[in-house]
Amino acid sequence: MTILSEDSSLPNIIVLLIEWFEQKAADLPWRQTDNPYYIWLSEIMLQQTQVTTVIPYYERFIQRFPTIKALAEASQDDLMKMWEGLGYYSRARNLQVAARQIMKDYGGKLPTSAAELRMLKGIGPYTAGAIASIAFGESAPVVDGNVIRVFSRVYNIEDDVRQQVTKNNIWELAVSLMPDVPAGRAGDYNQALMELGREICRPRNPLCIICPINQHCTAFKMGIQNERPVKSKKAPTPHYDVTCGVIRNNRDELLITKRPVDKLLGGLWEFPGGKVENGESFEEGLARELQEELGIEVDVGDFFIQVQHAYTHFKITLHAYECRLLPESPMPQCHDCDEFQWVHVDNLTDFAFGKADRKIVEELQQRPYKLL
Ligand code: SF4
Repeated sequence: MTILSEDSSLPNIIVLLIEWFEQKAADLPWRQTDNPYYIWLSEIMLQQTQVTTVIPYYERFIQRFPTIKALAEASQDDLMKMWEGLGYYSRARNLQVAARQIMKDYGGKLPTSAAELRMLKGIGPYTAGAIASIAFGESAPVVDGNVIRVFSRVYNIEDDVRQQVTKNNIWELAVSLMPDVPAGRAGDYNQALMELGREICRPRNPLCIICPINQHCTAFKMGIQNERPVKSKKAPTPHYDVTCGVIRNNRDELLITKRPVDKLLGGLWEFPGGKVENGESFEEGLARELQEELGIEVDVGDFFIQVQHAYTHFKITLHAYECRLLPESPMPQCHDCDEFQWVHVDNLTDFAFGKADRKIVEELQQRPYKLL
């Protein structure tokens, strides 16, 4: 790795960061506890998610599931409802798998070392380091996107941080700094580094003037902080057209299905449908998908609503249509879903939906449904 730092006074940077954190640390709910379960939960919720978004979810979650045991015993629907809207739903499923592992193998107590924490579902090197250092004081490093950005600037790293080899090298750099961190302060140092990246050393227009380590930052001294980190261009994000049916029965109930647990958004409810294939109209694609997913025959009627949504690696346009079950249609059966239910529109909010389907729920609750 090409490190072009002019300043190797690492202990200074570490001390300055810890002092800054002592004075300026944001007052966050998971910083007011030494309960390792709550610290673990906060670290999982904070992955890819803004602090302000996480706070209300965190508070509701620990109220609903105050212990690892309560989380382990929660029903899937209850768990997904508590996570609804936070995104990256595999985090919630993995949390529960790990909670059950902890109940079974660790007597209900979170293991204390980064190495053991990594054996749990959903805990990678970053999260293991964060929990081990913050909750248990282990001298374990953390490297997330914020830390990569800070290191790239402080040490003027010229390599492409999208390359795995560069990430590995930054991890090695982070490991090599840990012996200089005062005993018992690794948690504060790690949090300081991440908070500096989030609040001061921001992706665009970092606030270098008020940065506590600006005297030791090579990129700042060279005036090239906006050119670090070096990142190669991302491949264009693919886009898919997806259709779904708003299907109502004669009891004024709507048909919803639960996504298979091993798929994207697994365990969440949705309006049934799927991806349109090349050469199909939206109506044809929807009729085929409903046949494949539930074995039903429908008459696809009026267009209902269109929703745009971006996932991590692709974007979709979801086209919802009002549909009517044909009289000769077989009753629904789950071929490509975990469960289905007929639910009155007023009760849809009891179920956990992904963001795109929640827009359909909101629309259904706002305007009268036009029966075919
Ligand atoms: S001086 Fe600027 S670029 Fe350097 S670490 Fe501080 S905020 Fe980031």
